Amino acid sequence: MNDTESQPRPDPKIIPRSGHGISRADISQSALKVLYRLDKAGYQAFLVGGGVRDLLVGLKPKDFDVATNATPDEVRKLFGNSRLIGRRFKLAHVRFGREVIEVVTFRGAADVEHDDRKADETGRIIRDNVFGDIAEDIWRRDFTANALYYNIADYSVWDYTTGMEDVASRTLRLIGDPETRYREDPVRMLRAVRFAAKLGFGIAPDTAEPIKALAALLRDVPPARLFDETLKLFQSGHAVRSLELLIEDGLLEYLFPYTAEALAKDERNEVLPFLREGLSNTDRRIKEGQSVTPMFLYAVMLWHAIYRTAEKLKADEGIGEVEAMLLADDMIVSAQQSYTAYPKRFSLPMKDILVMQLRFTNRRGARAMRLLEHQRFRAAYDFLLLRAQCGLAEQSLADWWTEVQALPVEEQRKAFDVRRRRPRKPRRPPRGQHQTDQGP
Ligand code: ATP
Ligand code: MG
Repeated sequence: MNDTESQPRPDPKIIPRSGHGISRADISQSALKVLYRLDKAGYQAFLVGGGVRDLLVGLKPKDFDVATNATPDEVRKLFGNSRLIGRRFKLAHVRFGREVIEVVTFRGAADVEHDDRKADETGRIIRDNVFGDIAEDIWRRDFTANALYYNIADYSVWDYTTGMEDVASRTLRLIGDPETRYREDPVRMLRAVRFAAKLGFGIAPDTAEPIKALAALLRDVPPARLFDETLKLFQSGHAVRSLELLIEDGLLEYLFPYTAEALAKDERNEVLPFLREGLSNTDRRIKEGQSVTPMFLYAVMLWHAIYRTAEKLKADEGIGEVEAMLLADDMIVSAQQSYTAYPKRFSLPMKDILVMQLRFTNRRGARAMRLLEHQRFRAAYDFLLLRAQCGLAEQSLADWWTEVQALPVEEQRKAFDVRRRRPRKPRRPPRGQHQTDQGP
């Protein structure tokens, strides 16, 4: 498809209710309430973005976004349960219990020279604060599939680009000139990968082509935003596919440079299988509705880099393996911060998990037995299983830890070769309380 076909047209193609599969039954009650109230108050009200796209491809939308010609203040007045957020571009959050419906006012045209938008020298939009109409609003959208507007007034879908065709042919296509759009916001390169992985869409050749050359623009994106985007890529149930596409498009090194390096120097060909296995665990957990944590994701992504650094420190500095692991963890985690932020509440427990991998090899004594009580035992044990599965730890060791958990305490003591201490007499035995045989 040539460039002009990704240029938006001034008038939308309007697809009536009979021409598309979006049913109100699949839209959340809260989103419908917001749409109807805006409509009743005389404003235009559209469902837009990922919600419309997901409904069209038969997925359950994660959330629902509403676009309207009401200004944020007007939206605020209409909904008691709303508040305005954002400094650069105000929008309203309307809250219904735990569900939040984001209501945005149509944004003005992207023509940098003719309105209030300002781009910096790389083309990135740094200020953006004019309202516009729906035809201009499509410029705030990235892909044609994300730029479909579901009109609550008559349940039609408005398509200013080639959104409907592209959804039908499962194609991800940037609106407008791809290079310009990536320069405006380099995160769109990651979004291309994320949506391709999530939706199973192909990336249109024009849209895919500039990515390799422009990937380095991600260096200018704040690490906190890249952390958010990383979690969306790897914790939405499509982590394995996301990883493959990030590698293919030369993007991984701007999120996880140490992982990319470990992959590049992977003589034994063990890093990629390990990453795949770890990430497919995460994907499976999400499908089964289990919780996932960035700490485990980062442990998987950074394991080889940290482990290899520790090995090198051990050899070069002659320090012990635990100390080397702690040092390597500090080095890699702090270097990682300038790519994707990695909050301490995740990185500190991850360190425990990694160090426990070393401690697991010791199966004798009270200290080893105490690992079972460790707050991170479960996560560390899961990580050991993963390593064993990939041939990075002895399967017999993993099995031993599996079995020992299931034993009664007395048997565990035997397994760890912990002799029972003589019960100490408490100095002042509390009345009516018998001493247990648990020991101190
Ligand atoms: P999901 O919620 O499933 O992750 P989404 O498409 O809803 O996907 P959001 O990040 O919630 O993605 O954004 C909502 C909409 O806003 C998108 O569909 C897109 O139209 C627009 N949008 C969001 N981020 C950008 C961006 N960086 N550049 C251009 N448009 C964007
Ligand atoms: Mg969304």
